[in-house]
Amino acid sequence: MVDDSAPKESCGVFGLYAPGSPVSHMTYLGLFALQHRGQEAAGIAVSDQGRIWVDKDNGLVSAIFNDNRLQTLRGDLAIGHTRYSTTGSGDWENSQPVYRDLGGHQFALAHNGNLVNTAQLAETLGLPPSAAGSDSGLAAELLARELPAEATGTQSELVEAFVRTLPQLSGAYSFVLLSQDFLIGVRDPHGIRPLILGKLDNGWVLASETPALDVIGAEMVREIQPGEMVVIDQTGVQSLAPFPAEQIRSKFCSFEFVYFARPDGRLRGENVHRVRQRMGEALARQAPVEADAVVPVPESSVPGAQGYAHESGIPYVDGFVKNRYIGRTFIAPTQELRAAAVRIKLNPIRENIEGKRLVVVEDSIIRATTLRETMRMMRGAGVAEIHLRVLSPPYRWPCYYGMDTTDRSKLVAAHMTVDELRDYLGADSLAYLELDAMLAAIHPEDSTGLCTACLTGDYPIPVPVDLTELAITPSVPLAAPASISGLPR
Ligand code: SF4
Repeated sequence: MVDDSAPKESCGVFGLYAPGSPVSHMTYLGLFALQHRGQEAAGIAVSDQGRIWVDKDNGLVSAIFNDNRLQTLRGDLAIGHTRYSTTGSGDWENSQPVYRDLGGHQFALAHNGNLVNTAQLAETLGLPPSAAGSDSGLAAELLARELPAEATGTQSELVEAFVRTLPQLSGAYSFVLLSQDFLIGVRDPHGIRPLILGKLDNGWVLASETPALDVIGAEMVREIQPGEMVVIDQTGVQSLAPFPAEQIRSKFCSFEFVYFARPDGRLRGENVHRVRQRMGEALARQAPVEADAVVPVPESSVPGAQGYAHESGIPYVDGFVKNRYIGRTFIAPTQELRAAAVRIKLNPIRENIEGKRLVVVEDSIIRATTLRETMRMMRGAGVAEIHLRVLSPPYRWPCYYGMDTTDRSKLVAAHMTVDELRDYLGADSLAYLELDAMLAAIHPEDSTGLCTACLTGDYPIPVPVDLTELAITPSVPLAAPASISGLPR
């Protein structure tokens, strides 16, 4: 997907217990590997001889931290965070880690996911409704209030307070918590967001994805299980079960496999790149077409296009060059500027696609604004036919668990039929991978235990809206406008 209109991941988290190592520099590298999970803000907290220091700012990891800044963050343990705001604004105040100093205890908290009961939590805490805008801040506040008034600073006090806090939270969370001398990692009982445990010679690592372990030379040990809490200190890793077994029901986000996670990572025992290839292979079997070349919309669709090409026997061709250095683009006010904004990110290789019948592989279609411009660009480059193939089923329902797709009116598949969307995009044909095939591609042996709410409307955790009343106000016209339908087909 190549889109400002693409969904944004809600965050990446990292934690490190490694006495004697340059923990802030290593956390920086870990966050760098997790930059794709959030580009609005980043932060690092370290604990140095019982004192916690936090440094965070808006922007990319590499723009915020330099060697001087990292040198000031000394310590034996650290956590870090990359943020994309799904709850709360993108203001500095909402960047993480969130820090609390309560006298007896200091802690810093970083969160990946999205809580769905923030209004209720704000009310319980006696805070104004505006406080519901920061779910991570509310979680930290709840934890602070669960600590005894006369806290003595012991590990068990903080761990037990966290265990009492968790059942009050509803939604998706993978937390890493830094105390003065130990780390905690925890996943919600559905395990919607990932959290991985890694091992170093002299310590332990927690990270949203395995590439963040790779960059610091850590070995993956295992995933933290849904509903599991781990406490990491000088004695090693202690696993706790803060939830009763009947509340544990794995519902891992299937879109981590489709789009969000890095292809070089492993999730639930599967290499993400290979999963995307299998999705492409399944799509070739399900929706074959006569064509001259298979072209991915870079970059997340590349493995899927490779899979489609391999299964169909149609040659794989690079149709675009993607500018890797692009940050956010602006909201372009005119058609010409919108086209220019897309071209900055993605430019067609005319010689590879001109006059050809193309299978164009895309991982998903959310709002479709950039994809529509991309299709227009292909027509402009002289493509003869465009057969759009999508590696997942129609994205019709909002995500409340950590993706910024809560406005259903902006989801094109929620208010267009497949034929209408084909015409809107200017494709000759359009086919989506069916749900069963997508799930089988993720786990050939056992495809249960995955969240598919954005594809099916089947929400594993109750959401804070009445779904039957979700108003659908089309944000794009149902029929293709003249400027699109007038394009050569
Ligand atoms: S609703 Fe979709 S994007 Fe959100 S957690 Fe579930 S599968 Fe992932």
